[in-house]
Amino acid sequence: MADKVPALKYTQLFINNEFVDSASGKKFPVINPATGQKIAEVSEGDKADVDKAVAAAKAAFKRGSVWREMDASARAKLMNKLADLIERDAKQIANLLTLEGGKLFYGSFYEATSSATTLRYYAGWCDKITGKTIPTDGPYFTYTRKEPIGVVGQIIPWNFPLGMAMWKWGPALATGCTIVLKPAEQTPLATLHVAALAKEAGFPDGVINVIPGYGPTAGAAISSHPDITKVAFTGSTEVGKIIMEAAAKSNLKKISLELGGKSPLIVLDDVNVDEAVQIAHDAIFVNQGQVCCAGTRTFVHESIYDEFVQKSKAKAEARKIGDPFDVTVQHGPQIDDEIFERVMSYIKSGKEQGARVECGGERYGDKGYFVKPTVFSNVTDEMKIAREEIFGPVQSIIKFKTLEEVIERANNTTYGLASGILTNDINSALTVANALEAGSVWINCYNALQSSTPFGGYKMSGIGRDCGEESLEEYLEVKTVSVKLPMKS
Ligand code: ADP
Repeated sequence: MADKVPALKYTQLFINNEFVDSASGKKFPVINPATGQKIAEVSEGDKADVDKAVAAAKAAFKRGSVWREMDASARAKLMNKLADLIERDAKQIANLLTLEGGKLFYGSFYEATSSATTLRYYAGWCDKITGKTIPTDGPYFTYTRKEPIGVVGQIIPWNFPLGMAMWKWGPALATGCTIVLKPAEQTPLATLHVAALAKEAGFPDGVINVIPGYGPTAGAAISSHPDITKVAFTGSTEVGKIIMEAAAKSNLKKISLELGGKSPLIVLDDVNVDEAVQIAHDAIFVNQGQVCCAGTRTFVHESIYDEFVQKSKAKAEARKIGDPFDVTVQHGPQIDDEIFERVMSYIKSGKEQGARVECGGERYGDKGYFVKPTVFSNVTDEMKIAREEIFGPVQSIIKFKTLEEVIERANNTTYGLASGILTNDINSALTVANALEAGSVWINCYNALQSSTPFGGYKMSGIGRDCGEESLEEYLEVKTVSVKLPMKS
């Protein structure tokens, strides 16, 4: 068992390389979802604190500042140093992630180390961001410069608090922007620890600022701030709309939004059923189903449907539930009481609308926010559980007959984040991959996410991309410089 209670050193706002109390002096509780117990009181940021952080980030971005004058290769060195420090403290960070988020400890450890990988990936980009020379008509020499967009706001969810933060710090730092980040109110602790590491790594004052607080207060102050030129958000589609509106109403800041999903995973009849069941199981139950790209709609060919359902049920029932610090446990709690209630109400609606509960469908234990892994069969497309994002451990297994039919039905959603197809037939796999309206298609695998591969949504799953070269563009302005030659003397 890992060290359960790390010393909670960092519970204040991080502004201009210092930990400080909020202007109001207010604090909010952080709860351990596995027990329902309070584990910390964290300073609650609001508009006045966001203003202070933005002023620091603006000063750090000013022409002539240390950060603006720094060689790109030196920026890369700082990012790699931060990655080293995250790896050094990975166990401590993982403890914080499990404590505040109820995540399985080994998942938290992976999140910490893969956050370092993300920073290293983007460190490599620092000195490879280039413009073009453009062959124009007339006597012009024209070139483009890619310039950092400025002070960026970043609003982060609670399901992968550090992973998502580093997906956003990576491109922001590689391009030379400065940052004001708000972690989710449920999960500020690991990010504050990493803020302290950023100072230790040697990032100049004001480059990175972290303001814990609530969405409608601190979050809204970020999305409507006149001096923030870009906001990056990961969270619900509902809040994504609010952020887009705030961005439009304030200063038309650029936005990137990574939002919800209702991702299909299509299982054809030529698969090895045991392997397919395992992939589909992991696609939904990882992180207690609290994954935006979770494969929540498992479409299974009618000829293997009954066998698939029985084996999925057995797998979900066998999932060991309990203390997320126990490394033999496979299933922890939902993040909080609100999400717990929401998941339970979706389960209720599934039952009411005639889906069959194969297993789960109820609370586990009497403390914390545990929901038993739940498998529904006989799910039809119009049911709420097949249409809306549940964000919990609920698998809906849906029957189909033909490839054309399942493509149509898989695309019949307002979302378009991710998708998958399991088959040994290359023609079917590539036909489906081309036809699905989703930002990612995983063939014979699922959740194959890497820092180097762009990730984001079609339709109401978002705007823009995290990860890969593509996300750098979210943090860059393109300047065209045209020189007329020669100039008469
Ligand atoms: P979830 O449904 O996964 O909890 P949310 O979209 O509610 O996701 O939250 C994701 C992030 O958005 C959190 O950091 C939260 O505080 C923030 N947030 C919530 N409401 C707002 C808002 N009105 N403006 C800006 N940020 C918000």
